[in-house]
Amino acid sequence: MATSVDARINDELQALQAILINGYAVKDENGVPRAIETLIHPSTADKKEEQFVCVTLEVILTPDYPESSPEVILRNPRGLDDKLVNEIHKKIKEKLDRHVGNPIVFELIEIVRGFLTECNLPSGQCVICLHDFVNGDVFTKTPCYHHFHSHCLSKHLINSKKYYDEELEKLPNWQRSEAIPYKQTCPVCRCELKFDVSTLEQAPPPVDSINAPPFRLTDELREAKASSSAVKPPKVEPRPSTSVEPAPEPERQQCRVPYRGFNRRAKPGRRERGAPR
Ligand SMILES: [Zn+2]
Ligand SMILES: [Zn+2]
Repeated sequence: MATSVDARINDELQALQAILINGYAVKDENGVPRAIETLIHPSTADKKEEQFVCVTLEVILTPDYPESSPEVILRNPRGLDDKLVNEIHKKIKEKLDRHVGNPIVFELIEIVRGFLTECNLPSGQCVICLHDFVNGDVFTKTPCYHHFHSHCLSKHLINSKKYYDEELEKLPNWQRSEAIPYKQTCPVCRCELKFDVSTLEQAPPPVDSINAPPFRLTDELREAKASSSAVKPPKVEPRPSTSVEPAPEPERQQCRVPYRGFNRRAKPGRRERGAPR
């Protein structure tokens, strides 16, 4: 016996097809639509480089849909933390409760897209300055999908180039010509970057850094500094000259290790190769 499909569902699918073209998938069982899935981005007039968040919406149709509410799943959220995903779920629930008996998929897509457009900012912090991304911040998405304030990224790239030049300066002439050429790298994953630093530099500093109170050395910080120096390893006493082991010289050690190529030594504030990200 052929299963008939509610005319309202057919109409809804046709409308989705007209609006979304190929941007959605229908899972069916014996010709009966069971679920509709679509990847949703914020509205940015199709400018992909301005899309920082996305989520896959899956709407599972109940056997008597639209007489009962479908089940809604949000999968693979990008740039959204759990709190934001829960907020989308809450908005969806409110919509479903108010519209039982009506086809709802397109409206759910609009709710999610509207939400993503409103919070089209990566959630979390810029790992360079540790300030959150807030409205008004100018930030950059790298090809490796890491986000930084453009201002902070420019500072990072300027400093890494300066560090490279200083290290190069320390080498004897014959080694300089063999040194690996400078490359911009992502501060998180070291993926190679190609940014125009002078353009990034024009971005304003992070909004939160402008509003932050000026730095003050508080008693709490003094205590933290004192306790961190208290756990430093004790200074090594000079060994007797008869010892076969060379006496360690912690303060000079960095300059004495043989040159092994750029990017192979741990740089200050950087993750060691192989260390967890
Ligand atoms: Zn920053
Ligand atoms: Zn990266």
